[in-house]
Amino acid sequence: MNELLWLLLPVAAASGWLAARHSLLTKMGHISNTLSPDYFRGLNYLLNEQPDKAIDVFIKLIDVDSDTVETHLALGALFRRRGEVNRAIRIHQNLIARPNLIAEQRNQALLELGQDYLCAGLLDRAEDLFLQLINSQALRLQAYYQLLDIYQQEHDWDKAIQIADKLARVSGESLHHVIAQYRCEQADTWRQQQQLALTHQAIQQALQADPACVRASLLEGDLALQAEDYPAAIQAFKRVEQQDPDYLSEVIEPLQHCYEQLQQMAQFTDYLNTLLKRYNGITPMLVMAKILKQQQGDQEAADFIVKQLHRRPSIRGLDHLLELALMRAGHITYDHLLLLKDMTSQLLRNKPIYKCSHCGFTGKTLHWQCPSCKQWNTIKPIQGIDGE
Ligand SMILES: [Zn+2]
Repeated sequence: MNELLWLLLPVAAASGWLAARHSLLTKMGHISNTLSPDYFRGLNYLLNEQPDKAIDVFIKLIDVDSDTVETHLALGALFRRRGEVNRAIRIHQNLIARPNLIAEQRNQALLELGQDYLCAGLLDRAEDLFLQLINSQALRLQAYYQLLDIYQQEHDWDKAIQIADKLARVSGESLHHVIAQYRCEQADTWRQQQQLALTHQAIQQALQADPACVRASLLEGDLALQAEDYPAAIQAFKRVEQQDPDYLSEVIEPLQHCYEQLQQMAQFTDYLNTLLKRYNGITPMLVMAKILKQQQGDQEAADFIVKQLHRRPSIRGLDHLLELALMRAGHITYDHLLLLKDMTSQLLRNKPIYKCSHCGFTGKTLHWQCPSCKQWNTIKPIQGIDGE
């Protein structure tokens, strides 16, 4: 039997099925002693890219031989991975219909079928199956993760929070920061519906779940700003420093606006100075330079930037310095400076501002859930010479 499989392998490679098929072939090798000749007929159909005929053969075989359940599971999963979801559903549904299946095998088939439905976008059907599987000791965790995925896709945040709570208890995994993000999603929704009391409630719940939730502070600050309650906005925005200073660049501009409205610019520059001493972010430096330019002129601003650039090299800082220098340059230096300025501007124009620490996805918008790897809280402003 094994020899025959090895003979078949080059054919499989040629038909482009090799990589995905390998696990299936290995599994079939293990149960080779119990295989009937029909199995090879099915395998032949597969290798000849006639999957429907192959499925017919395999499905008939289940009746005869319940030892081949594993193989059917592998085959179904294989079809799903290839995007042939209907074929996967057919295999798994047939498997589940077998009366002689033991509970463990049946549950495994249900889990696979649920994943097929998920792939096909049939979320309701997938949800029903995974809810059944919560009762299976062996598959409970997987069922919870799948349910979480469904509720996130449906934006059903209440249910997502319930499942995350249970999942955290069963797995011991800390999901506080994810639950806080769900609360923030709820807050966003309430805000769009102009339900202010509910928005505030959801923000507080987010902060209870995760006191380090930057998003909740930004939301709270935004709301206060909108209501022109500047002291409250300042309080919320300033919280970000304790929560995660990597996000400070997000609050500098709104904070400046608040202090301007309160005519407390001296307090704002004090705060900027504190940040400059504590962190390496470039946004506080540039805002400070702009204020110096307004209050004391170009030369003061340029001197300040030069001093700061020694401490923290930065393309954005250099870009700003060149802008200041351009205003004061004579003809010849002007051309040279303009060339440099073009270069820095171009560098910055094509630069992503945010990056996911989990998968490396970059972009110009701050997403709280990574569009690529779907992790929460992993996207931050890029730090370093060509970033923040
Ligand atoms: Zn990511």
